[in-house]
Amino acid sequence: MRNLYTLLPNEDLMGFVGRIHYLGPFQAFEDTRQRLGLTTRLLKAGEVTYKDEYKVSQLLGHSLESLASNHTSRNLLRYCMTRDELNKFSDPSTTNKMPKITFFDSKSVLKLPWRWCPECVDADVAEFGCSYYHRNHQLLGVHTCYKHGCLLYSECKNCDFRIDTIKQAYVPPVDNKCPCCGSTEFLGQEYISDKMHQVESYVLLMAEGKLDLNFERIAASVCEHIGINEQSILARTGGKSVRAFNRRMLNFFGLDDLSQYFSFVIEYNDKLKCRTLCNSRTYDIRFKYTPAHPVVYAMLLVYLDHHHHHHESQLLAA
Ligand SMILES: [Zn+2]
Ligand SMILES: [Zn+2]
Repeated sequence: MRNLYTLLPNEDLMGFVGRIHYLGPFQAFEDTRQRLGLTTRLLKAGEVTYKDEYKVSQLLGHSLESLASNHTSRNLLRYCMTRDELNKFSDPSTTNKMPKITFFDSKSVLKLPWRWCPECVDADVAEFGCSYYHRNHQLLGVHTCYKHGCLLYSECKNCDFRIDTIKQAYVPPVDNKCPCCGSTEFLGQEYISDKMHQVESYVLLMAEGKLDLNFERIAASVCEHIGINEQSILARTGGKSVRAFNRRMLNFFGLDDLSQYFSFVIEYNDKLKCRTLCNSRTYDIRFKYTPAHPVVYAMLLVYLDHHHHHHESQLLAA
């Protein structure tokens, strides 16, 4: 029998904490949290909680790097941060003083509840005797199961039950039954466009660390597409081209798609505005500001693929 106190395939590292509590001796999650020495009281899905991830990885005897491709969202940072910034978040000696990783305009980036795939739940219960949260199901931009292709569930159709923090369900609902009302009907993402499927593929490649690009190279492709370079960025002469590029990006995705990732999307006089997507970090690597959310780069790559102006299509090559 498999040791259930180790990570299961593609198990989300913070979801693992929920499962440890579920299997463990304590009644109150607070006791498990304190026993593990975690600082975050409310474990939310898909967040990069470096400090706690580091603690759990230490308890398991693994480095964070070794857990990145299957158990955390850590690889996503490679596509939105400079090497210096990455180093700042990789130095264990600074863990306790570590600044929280935040992204530009993060209030506008949609927060999703913990999600699960009904087929994975059945398969995991059959194989391991329990359900668990998969890392690949928690990523912003991912709406379907990487294994089964079916829609991920996020809430009960009958009573609106959703798992905003892990205390609401330490493991995904078993037998496809709502823990609140017993209903067997759940809802997932209602609207998914073709472009959103392409964004999803990129987010998964990025999380797995399989996308052979980094922040600097994506920004260089964007510069090339806009028609600006280091000199024009420094001299601030490319403003008009940048604004035109932002408009093209916004129109390419459109209000419906943009609203599936960001909450601050405005349409005014037929013009779209979304500063979460349109910010200088998309092309200026020296821009001294908070990194943009990784999903922004997945969206940029989809946009560039459609404009044949790149880097050979990473998506087709994968
Ligand atoms: Zn599945
Ligand atoms: Zn319900």
